[in-house]
Amino acid sequence: MSKKDKYRGKDFIRQMIHHDIDQGVNDGRLATRFPPEPNGYLHIGHALSIYINFGIAEEFDAPCYLRFDDTNPAKESDEYVNSIMEDVKWLGFDWGNNLAHASDYFESIHEFAIELIEKDLAFVDSQTSEEIRNTRGTLNSPGIESPYRNRSVSENLGLFNRMKNGEFENGEHVLRAKIDMSSPNINLRDPVIYRILNLEHQRTGKTWCIYPMYDFAHTLSDAIEGTTHSLCTLEFEDHRPLYEWFLDNLNLSTRPRQIEFSRLNVEHTITSKRKLGELVDSGDVSGWDDPRMPTISGLRKRGYPASALREFCKRVGITKKDKSIEMSLLESTVREELDATCNRVMAIMNPLKVTIKNYPDGESETLEASNHPKKKEMGIREMSFGKNILIEKDDFMESPEEDFYRLSPGAEVRLRYAYIIKCEEIIKDEDGEIIELICSYDPDTKSGVGKSKKKVKSAIHWVSADHSITGKVRLFETLYSDPSPDSDSPLNPNSKIEIDEAQFEQSLSNAKIGSRFQFERSGYFILDEIEDEKLSFNRIVTLKDTWAKIQKKKK
Ligand code: ATP
Ligand code: MG
Repeated sequence: MSKKDKYRGKDFIRQMIHHDIDQGVNDGRLATRFPPEPNGYLHIGHALSIYINFGIAEEFDAPCYLRFDDTNPAKESDEYVNSIMEDVKWLGFDWGNNLAHASDYFESIHEFAIELIEKDLAFVDSQTSEEIRNTRGTLNSPGIESPYRNRSVSENLGLFNRMKNGEFENGEHVLRAKIDMSSPNINLRDPVIYRILNLEHQRTGKTWCIYPMYDFAHTLSDAIEGTTHSLCTLEFEDHRPLYEWFLDNLNLSTRPRQIEFSRLNVEHTITSKRKLGELVDSGDVSGWDDPRMPTISGLRKRGYPASALREFCKRVGITKKDKSIEMSLLESTVREELDATCNRVMAIMNPLKVTIKNYPDGESETLEASNHPKKKEMGIREMSFGKNILIEKDDFMESPEEDFYRLSPGAEVRLRYAYIIKCEEIIKDEDGEIIELICSYDPDTKSGVGKSKKKVKSAIHWVSADHSITGKVRLFETLYSDPSPDSDSPLNPNSKIEIDEAQFEQSLSNAKIGSRFQFERSGYFILDEIEDEKLSFNRIVTLKDTWAKIQKKKK
């Protein structure tokens, strides 16, 4: 295969990787990493990063490290570490033996800091953090050099050692790289690379009271573990010169290359661990795995299959332009997969009683319903039919609007997989609310029997009132109504609707937790819990693309 063929149709990251391998950079090796900070649960943006890093490594039969960027013991915890591992596995990726932590490298990172001091490329600054901030300069004006910038190498080595030995309070000193206070890139204005934090670390305990800052730790972790391509999001583009400065000035065996791609944002939700954490802390959602959350655990609880999420990441792809992806892309990806794989069943959310007056009292019969209209191989199930039926309230209109072909006084409709019925009489309660319909059925119109010539315009779903089971259903909409919300935006008041007395066809009494179904005409659902024998379903996604329709109407 010629080089040109190899690159054709590939995104820019894969092209750069092919190029570097062909040039023999880092001995023609590839290694990637996914480096989350364990300060929250992963969200859908991280899913894209996981898909890219692990996906590319897999294609090249190369390692991908799962590396916890655990350099800030104040914000990190084991709960987050465990959830991250669970989420990566659930998405279908495997780090094998390549589990790492920035804290595994603390010893080496510390030695590299000493190497910089010895080369007179780092110094201990004793200004306060406020003084350091105030002398950084702005985009238009240079910064001011620290009065401590010209300390001798031996004084710096001595002070840094005392910092490490715990002789100082937080903030008394920091270690800064000595680069250029007048650089147009603020990241190069003598960035802080080590700080004192008198805090126990979840993995290294009390061993350290100085911790490396993100840029320093991140670059060195990449290089130490042998990552060759450090794929990250665009906000790190301005950090790349610093990343390269560290590589240029330290004696490292791997020279990783940083490549940036655009973050994934999804409309009507937020992708920031910090903001999502605020929702959890305020109790506005039930937890990190609330089915409305864009977290991987929330999407899992909601019922999204991991394979659909991977397919979504594939469709989003790798780009350099910041973008906000429409909810409908995510939903249609999920719907496509569920359409192909889910058994159909019938469930009634808002039941209306139907009595079939010419059906014999106390009798019932068993009808066959197909599990998937387009896939015979998915088989059939049995449904009981009798005098007492429940239909959806919405499927009846006393004074039908134009184009309403479902049930109305005197009108006929097919009960799917059963018979054609006709509405003969309406029964109302004292408030005028319709509580029951009296219908007749035509025994010659049994589905699948084929002799009936009678045609009706529509078929509705139903369950047998004497055989159905009662359970809960939770319907979800987007977390925010606003397409680009910030943390002050109010939650969508319809983001969660709970129905306590939905009626399911009896075949669902054998359903297992985690199984997914299409409830005919209302959407795809997952059996989330069984409490006191009561089934509780989450709606994964609606059937039709209602969302795209609403959007279209608005335009
Ligand atoms: P957050 O802002 O949500 O806290 P983060 O970037 O601080 O995200 P990290 O744990 O540092 O979270 O991220 C781990 C990796 O995931 C990084 O390489 C980061 O670039 C990537 N990542 C984070 N958010 C997104 C996103 N929305 N789209 C794509 N990749 C992302
Ligand atoms: Mg981060």
